[in-house]
Amino acid sequence: MIRPRVEERPLESQVDDLLTCVHCGFCLASCPTYELLGDERDSPRGRLYLMRAVAEGRLEAGDQSFALHLDQCLGCRACEPVCPSGVRFGLVLEHAREARALAGGVLDRGARLALRVFAKRRLQNLLWALLRLLRATRLPLLVARAGRRAGTPGRLRFAMAMLAATARRAKGELRGIRRRRRRVGRSLRGSTRAGERTPPAEDLVALLEGCVMSGLYRYVNRATERLVRAHGAMTVNLPAGLCCGALHAHAGELEEARALARRVIRAFERSGAKLLLTNSAGCSAAIKDYAEWLRDDPVYRKRAARVSSLVRDVVEWLVERSGQRYAALQLRLGYDAPCHLLHAQRISDQPLALLGRVPQLEVVELPRSDRCCGAAGIYGLARPQLSQELLRRKLAEVKQAGVRALATGNPGCLMQIGAGALTRRLPLDVIHPVELLAALLEAGESG
Ligand code: SF4
Ligand code: SF4
Repeated sequence: MIRPRVEERPLESQVDDLLTCVHCGFCLASCPTYELLGDERDSPRGRLYLMRAVAEGRLEAGDQSFALHLDQCLGCRACEPVCPSGVRFGLVLEHAREARALAGGVLDRGARLALRVFAKRRLQNLLWALLRLLRATRLPLLVARAGRRAGTPGRLRFAMAMLAATARRAKGELRGIRRRRRRVGRSLRGSTRAGERTPPAEDLVALLEGCVMSGLYRYVNRATERLVRAHGAMTVNLPAGLCCGALHAHAGELEEARALARRVIRAFERSGAKLLLTNSAGCSAAIKDYAEWLRDDPVYRKRAARVSSLVRDVVEWLVERSGQRYAALQLRLGYDAPCHLLHAQRISDQPLALLGRVPQLEVVELPRSDRCCGAAGIYGLARPQLSQELLRRKLAEVKQAGVRALATGNPGCLMQIGAGALTRRLPLDVIHPVELLAALLEAGESG
């Protein structure tokens, strides 16, 4: 099989994109790291300036200051929708990080190990099994709550809190919902695994189970199946642990990301489905970029473009389908937009419209829902202090909004905000919108 060679100077291929920046500065106010650090080199404009200097050979890709300001970028892409020139910041950032990596820049050890594991399905599945065992002991929950309420939790305590935040717990505002959810899992019918005989392609959609979602949020994946089928489609699940490559691309490991993308493309083609759905905003955003990632691959170029055109975030797909009724729920629910849903895919009103179909549910968007919570893939591992400061601000908004339950559609955000609430002992339940809707659907059907 023909494979394109690894680009030796990846930023040179991005010069056209870099030149579209006209230095107007409209993006500065949208950038969380510029707001926090106040340094032009930590703004989109400043980073683009540094990238252009590397692309034009005026600065070494291995320069320490280049690495620092790239690493401090969240990759949240909040700078893209506001840019009048249409600079594709997310894509050039990935190439810049690849250039930095090829020049000998190294990622944090923990981050590097996590990426290696995500690339190997068997290793990853073993890791998830161990983490689920650890989670079942409730030790992570005890560790999360053991420290001081104020101040920044240490790395280990926060990691344990993130794991604890993925558990099903029937507490707080969502107690009733989480009990109903068990019935959702039991009532699954009509779903099939990839490789089994599948229903006609006409009504068949493929679900990407993902890596973190299939490892720690399996109940959300089951809820997604239930909800999609209730909206008239049959589902086929792509293999659990199939990673879309988003984390690798964001870290500049583009060859690994492309290899993972090819696997997703092949699995989707084998499924015979018409559409590909994901319930993770980071995955849907990445798959929409496959056409770009594989544009120089003669074997996969067209296949990647096809998959990019056929992938939908589940929220985007659900809102286009009407007629489903939900049981009423008296609750004031906060909503926080995942960056890769809002900025990368420009999906803004759809989650609110979808949740708005639940009778009596009052949905309140957080005041700065467009601001990153600090999760940003492996950012929490690589830049814990900045990540925690963004989280502190997010939790202050939760308080300001006066909500005790919050919906958000990305595993990183669910874990980050959930862990923040646990370590600070805040009365806050964090839930994926799909999980909430599936439980109400079940309640509606049975009631
Ligand atoms: S808004 Fe766009 S064109 Fe203006 S400085 Fe920012 S990236 Fe450059
Ligand atoms: S991706 Fe986010 S953090 Fe990075 S420059 Fe753009 S707005 Fe700032």
